[in-house]
Amino acid sequence: MNNGNSVVRNANSREFNATRPNNDTPLDFIRQIIVTDLQAGKNDRRIHTRFPPEPNGYLHIGHAKSILLNYGIAKEFGGKFNLRFDDTNPEKEESEYVESIKQDLRWLGVDWEDPEYYASDYFDQLYEWTCKLIKDGKAYVCDLSSEQISEYRGKAIQSEGKVITPSGKDSPYRNRSVKENLDLFRRMRDGAFPDGAKTLRAKIDMAHPNLNMRDPIMYRILHASHHRAGNKWCIYPMYDWAHGQSDSIEGITHSICTLEFENHRPLYDWYLNQLAIYHPRQIEFARLALTYTVMSKRLLLQLVKEGHVQGWDDPRMPTIAGLRRRGFTPEAIREFSKRIGVSKAESTVEYAFLEHCLRQDLNRRAPRVMGVLDPLKVVITNFPENKVEQLTAINNPEDESAGTRNVPFSSVLYIEREDFMEDPVKKFYRLSQGREIRLRYAYFITCTDVVKDTKGDIVELRCTYDPATRGGDSPDGRKVRATLHWVSAKHAVDANVRLYEHLFAKENPTETEGNQQWSDNLNPNSLSVLSECKLEPSLAGATPGTHYQFERKGYFCVDVDSKPEKLVFNRTVTLRDTWAKIQKKQGR
Ligand code: ATP
Ligand code: MG
Repeated sequence: MNNGNSVVRNANSREFNATRPNNDTPLDFIRQIIVTDLQAGKNDRRIHTRFPPEPNGYLHIGHAKSILLNYGIAKEFGGKFNLRFDDTNPEKEESEYVESIKQDLRWLGVDWEDPEYYASDYFDQLYEWTCKLIKDGKAYVCDLSSEQISEYRGKAIQSEGKVITPSGKDSPYRNRSVKENLDLFRRMRDGAFPDGAKTLRAKIDMAHPNLNMRDPIMYRILHASHHRAGNKWCIYPMYDWAHGQSDSIEGITHSICTLEFENHRPLYDWYLNQLAIYHPRQIEFARLALTYTVMSKRLLLQLVKEGHVQGWDDPRMPTIAGLRRRGFTPEAIREFSKRIGVSKAESTVEYAFLEHCLRQDLNRRAPRVMGVLDPLKVVITNFPENKVEQLTAINNPEDESAGTRNVPFSSVLYIEREDFMEDPVKKFYRLSQGREIRLRYAYFITCTDVVKDTKGDIVELRCTYDPATRGGDSPDGRKVRATLHWVSAKHAVDANVRLYEHLFAKENPTETEGNQQWSDNLNPNSLSVLSECKLEPSLAGATPGTHYQFERKGYFCVDVDSKPEKLVFNRTVTLRDTWAKIQKKQGR
């Protein structure tokens, strides 16, 4: 089974490559079930899947896995795919979320059957079916409070090393007559009772070993306005009551959901069986969890509300909107989702693996440019002061068709401050006094002098260039050990660059000790802003959402906050940094 576990907790790229699925990969268990159903001629050989988000927050990368799985299966087997808003909880749902979810699906490259569906469109049908269940003696109105209901239901306990669920206790309202139940239920709908005064419950079995089967609540009273239904209803169906019936109405053949619903499957089946309506098949798989982030909408909402991030689309968020703004591509997310596979076993995938999939995609598509993030001025003393030369630079060595561009060279340049060391340590091969290095696509230069300010900080390097090395090659075969990126000072465009690190400092942020809160694990250094960056002039006018590789620095993406006079870039992901590794080894 391609369950992706081999990529779990392993950030090494060579091993990631070893897990790439190929045509020999056996079908995962979901596809196996589908193939078996098709071979048995079930559902008239139709395949119809759905993605049922609750519009109470933005989608995250875990949802992307579910979407791509459901959509992927529909496409693979020539079937259909529905988007259905599971909008049964009026208090937390908003139209803003509906719009964001549709936008995210489109961006992922997913299209759904027209139109999108809403569970709230089935409220009338659900009401009717409830009346049928009441008439059949399968549902009743209960006056117990929610605390009493759970008390009567009982709970699982440990006994002699085993988990047992002692029988619950019947509600005193369980044996109300059909007539009384119908009357009360109608009055519940008509607004005769306040919130929480009554519930409508299925009459199943208060001794059932599965607690979900102990007379589950089907409706609660909520005098709340609904984002679509307005004030039409003051009773709202519970998830379990709405979900399977919605699947049935839409003719969903395979209702694929996450493992926490496994214990709800008997109830899913029970409702459909009582109503004797079309019966979809529920299949569960493990949720995606990622290191260094949280994935619950409740926690993500808290991050937004408490201002730990700047919104749902903050580039540090694991939301689709956040990843998009950070510079992730739909292709990378699709590839990631494919390669982690589907499994029944809960596991946590390394964030680094997500980044790995992204790097592979950006490496193919992102044009290379030169940008200096922390500039140090370099004066080429033997280059004529007013002269400008146009040098040829390759746009993408991975893609010949991307062609070349001109990069201006002049007597005053910027290089990266960290590319110079006054007293070079062992294995530092970049620029230092008296040493010669190559400027990418330009010339060999040698540092002759270091200029400092009164505080002793280096403010300028004075260098000479060798005109014979134009293009970056020495005709006499002279070797240099470093090639640096650079930008011509008078041609440079100014930019702010935002560098992002993990949002949390801990691999598993919800793991806390003592009085700690999960939010105590937030990484205080998850964002740093560099405001003096100098970029090559070809970037003038770059439009939001465009990806680039800043040579030697990483992949960057233009942010929506960009202005023509000051570009704003987000660092999407770094390149692998061998120097940092050496430094680490040397304990620096
Ligand atoms: P959360 O727990 O984050 O609030 P949810 O499950 O309540 O998420 P829904 O809007 O109900 O959010 O989710 C829609 C679908 O996405 C469900 O079928 C759910 O199983 C699936 N899903 C949610 N989180 C993940 C995840 N981390 N990995 C895979 N699928 C997920
Ligand atoms: Mg849910």
